[in-house]
Amino acid sequence: MSNMLETLRRIVQEVNTAPNLQSALDIMVSSVRGAMGTEVCSVYLLDERSSRYVLMATEGLNSEAIGNVSLGITEGLVGQVGLREEPLNLDDAAAHPKFHYLPETGEERYNSFLGVPIMHRRKILGVLVVQQRDKRRFDESEEAFLVTVSAQLSGVVAHARAIGALDSLRGNKPGAVGVFNGVPGSPGVGLGKAVVIYPPADLGSIPDRVCDDTEAEIAQFHEAVETVRCSIRELDRKMASSLMPEERALFDVYLRMLDDQGLVGEVIDRIVAGNWAQGALREVIEEHVQTFQTMEDAYLRERMADVKDLGLRILAQLQKHNAGDIPCYPENTILVGEDISTAVLVEQPLERIAGIATVQGSSNAHMAIVARALGIPTVVGLTELPVTSLDDTELVVDGYQGRLYVNPSKQLRKRYKDIIRDEKQFIAGLEAYKDLPACTPDGHRMQILVNTGLMVDVARSKNRGAEGVGLYRSEIPFMMRERFPSEEEQRAIYRFQLESFAPRPVTIRTLDIGGDKDLPYFPIEEENPALGWRGIRVTLDHPEIFMVQVRAMLKASLGLENLRILLPMVSSVFEIEEALHLIHRAAMEVEEELQVTLVRPQVGIMLEVPAAVVQVADMAQLVDFMSVGSNDLTQYMLAVDRNNPRVADIYSAYHPAILRTLYRVVQEVHAVGKPIGICGEMAGDPGTATLLMAMGFDSLSMSSSNLLRIKKLICEMPLERARALLERVLMVDSGAVIRSLVEYELEEMGLISLIRPLSKAIKP
Ligand code: PEP
Ligand code: MG
Repeated sequence: MSNMLETLRRIVQEVNTAPNLQSALDIMVSSVRGAMGTEVCSVYLLDERSSRYVLMATEGLNSEAIGNVSLGITEGLVGQVGLREEPLNLDDAAAHPKFHYLPETGEERYNSFLGVPIMHRRKILGVLVVQQRDKRRFDESEEAFLVTVSAQLSGVVAHARAIGALDSLRGNKPGAVGVFNGVPGSPGVGLGKAVVIYPPADLGSIPDRVCDDTEAEIAQFHEAVETVRCSIRELDRKMASSLMPEERALFDVYLRMLDDQGLVGEVIDRIVAGNWAQGALREVIEEHVQTFQTMEDAYLRERMADVKDLGLRILAQLQKHNAGDIPCYPENTILVGEDISTAVLVEQPLERIAGIATVQGSSNAHMAIVARALGIPTVVGLTELPVTSLDDTELVVDGYQGRLYVNPSKQLRKRYKDIIRDEKQFIAGLEAYKDLPACTPDGHRMQILVNTGLMVDVARSKNRGAEGVGLYRSEIPFMMRERFPSEEEQRAIYRFQLESFAPRPVTIRTLDIGGDKDLPYFPIEEENPALGWRGIRVTLDHPEIFMVQVRAMLKASLGLENLRILLPMVSSVFEIEEALHLIHRAAMEVEEELQVTLVRPQVGIMLEVPAAVVQVADMAQLVDFMSVGSNDLTQYMLAVDRNNPRVADIYSAYHPAILRTLYRVVQEVHAVGKPIGICGEMAGDPGTATLLMAMGFDSLSMSSSNLLRIKKLICEMPLERARALLERVLMVDSGAVIRSLVEYELEEMGLISLIRPLSKAIKP
C-alpha cells in the first residue's frame, strides 16, 4: 500500500468501467484483497425486499456461498456494521457477542475482521469486509483505506444496482418495472416514449439506437473513417518538417487503429448487430478505453487518450453527416438526458413533449422553472438513470413524486392515465376563478402577476387572469438565437409583450445570464458560476449589450407606457447607480433619435443576494419598486446550489431563515414607502403564497400554470387566518415543521388539493 492514492485511483477506475453490477463487485473484492494483502475480501449487499445482507462477491471465502448466504439486518457482524453505520475492527471476530457463524462460507479459519458500511446518500447499500487468519487488529491506515474505497465506490454500486434493475427488465421478466427516484421538477404525469437528448461531440452520452438501414449506416461510417484517415495523413505531412520521426509515429499508430481489422471492423460488427453507427462507435471505444485503463503500464494507459481522441474525430464526422437529422419525436415524447439546458429545451417540438427526465438538476434549476411554465411534467436529479440505454423505451414521468418508471406495466399505465384524466377535471374546475379578482373573503386585494419568457406564456396567462407581467425573463428569447438579437429584433419581441398586456404593467428584466443560464453563443465557463459573472455584473461590464437592450425596451413602450425595468442579481448600491445612469442615457438617446419625449419607466431591482437584503432600505430608496427573487435568494442564504441534486432536499423555502428574512424585508421596504413583490417560485406555491400574503407582499408573480391555483387560494383564504398562521410559523425553528403546519392549515380549509391534486399516491 505504498502509493495509496494511485492504488485507489486504479481500483475506482476498474470498478467504474465494469459492464454490470456482478463484475463491478467481483473486481472490487479482488482488487481490494490484492491491494491490502488480506486473505479475504467480501461484499454483502442489502436486499431491500427481504431486508437481508446477501453475500454478493468474495475472494477467500467459499465461492459456492455467493448469492446463497445472507444475514438479517440485525444479524452477525455485518448486521452490526450496517446498524451502526460505522466500521467494525476486531482481532477476534468469534469472541464478539454479535458473531454469527455461517458454515457455508468457511470463515471459521479467519480471526480478524474489518467491516465498513457502503453508504450512498445516507442509505446503507451494503458492507465491505476483509478478514485475516492472524489474530490482529487492522491498523489505522488499513481501516482508513477501506473506508475510502467504500465511500468512493458507493456511487458505482448504486448506479450498477439501478442498471441491474434495468437489465433484468430487459431479460423480459413479465410485469417487472424499473423505477428511478429523482426530484420533482414540474408537477403532473406524462406517459410516452423516450427520446434521448445528448450534447454533440460527447461520445459517452451517445444513446444506443436501433438502426433501420444497416447498409446506409455502414456506408456512412466508412465515409467518416475515410475523412479522418485523410485528415491524419494531411496532419502528418504538415508536421513532417517540425516533428522528429519518432514523434510522428503517433500518426502511424492512429492509422493502424483505423485498419479494417481494428476499430473499424469492430464498429461494423456492432452496426450489423443492430446499433446505429454512433452508438456502435461509443460501445467499441468504451471497451478499448476500459482495457487500457486497467493496464499497469503508465505508457500504455496513456494510449487511452489516443483511442478517445480517434473516437471523437470519427464522431464529429458522423455528426456532421447527420447534422440535418432531427430525431423522430413520437406524439408523446419523453425527453431524457444527462442534463437538458433551457436553451436546448426551447428548441424542441414542445407540442409533442409529454415529459422530461434528467440525471442532473434540481427543482429550482432554470430548466425546471421553464418546464413548469410550459406545464410539462418533469423529474430531475435522477442520479442513477442509465440514460444511454433508454432511447425509444416506454416511460412514465411522475412529476409529483419525482419518479420515473421504465417499461411500466399495463396496470401502472392505466393508473397513471386515470390520474391524468382526474387532473384535467381538477384544472377545469379552476376555470371559474379566471375572471374573479384575487380578493380574500375578508376583503384583502392581492395583485397577481405572471412570469413570462416564451411566446406561449402570453396566451396562457391572459386567459388565466394575470394582471400584468411581474417578470419577463428576457434571456429566454436570447437563448433561441445564434447571436445576440439586434436592437430592432429586441424591440419587436418586447413590443409583443407590452402590447399583449397593455395597459397592465409589464416588468422586463434586463439580461440575466451566467449561473445556470447560458447563451449558446456566449458561453461563460467558470468553476463556480453561481458566485461568478452573472446578471447585472455581465451587463455592466458590457454596456453595449445593456444599452441596446434598454433602448429596445424604451422604443417598444412608446405609446403604451406600461414598461417597468427590473435589474437582476444586484449586490451593491453602485450597481444600481450605474444602471440608472445607463438607463437615463439610453432614454436621452432614444428621445433624440426619435424626436419624442419618453415617459420614463419605473425601475426596480431583484432582491436575490443576502447583501442586498441587509442593505434593502438603502437600495429601495434608489428605485421605484422591489421584487424578491426567492429562487436565488434561497440558494445564497442557505448556501445550497439550486442545481445540485445532492443537496436538493435541503433547498427549502420553508427554512425559518428565509421566512424571517422575507418578513423583515417587506417591512423595511414599506417603511421607505416603496412597493415590494416576489417573483420566485415561492409565489406560485399555495403553501408559501399564504405566508407571503400574510407578510404583506403587494404582488405575487408566478408561472402561468399556477395562476388559477393561487387565485382560488386567495379567494378562499381570509387574510386574518393567514396572518395567524404566519405568527405561529415565525416562532418555529424547523422548516419541516413549518411545512407541516402550513399543509395542515390548507387541509383544514379543504384546500390541500391545490398542492397535491394527486391524493392517491402510487407506490411501485
Ligand atoms: C429568482 O431567482 O427567484 C428569479 C425569479 O430569477 P431566476 O429564477 O430567473 O434566476
Ligand atoms: Mg434569479
